[in-house]
Amino acid sequence: MNTGHDILTLAFEDFGFESLYELYRNTYKCTPCGPSVGALVRSIDKEDRWYYCDDLRTLPHFMEMAAKGIEVLSLQVGSIVEGLDVECDSVVVELEDTDPDTFSKNYWAAVDAVNEEASQLWDETHGCPDCFGHGDEELHPIDPECESCGGFGVVI
Ligand SMILES: [Zn+2]
Repeated sequence: MNTGHDILTLAFEDFGFESLYELYRNTYKCTPCGPSVGALVRSIDKEDRWYYCDDLRTLPHFMEMAAKGIEVLSLQVGSIVEGLDVECDSVVVELEDTDPDTFSKNYWAAVDAVNEEASQLWDETHGCPDCFGHGDEELHPIDPECESCGGFGVVI
């Protein structure tokens, strides 16, 4: 049976990620919405705690965690859309009862789902003043054909 660490190590071996922090940094850099990544970690004292984003840096590499008996129970992917006070629905990916391939697939599917929701929220709210002629009216959709912002909208 695979332990959580075998799963993590094998699932991300091809990407060369050796720690949760590396996984988070690369996910963040390669995904337009810049998702947040969290990990539910069980310490040697059997205490469960969530680590998010930069906190993941305090955790050792997969191999070292395994050697120390620190367990990763699940990962969570989420995103905050800049300028809005809304968060995308975060997706939790369980490490129990899974295998490396399934886990890897589920993780990247979670990243895609969160990114899609984040870009949809962005498109619905980040129109520039010329998008659909809304002017400075707050929060309106982006006009994909808008010449002023090129269909990219503006940071609010
Ligand atoms: Zn525009």
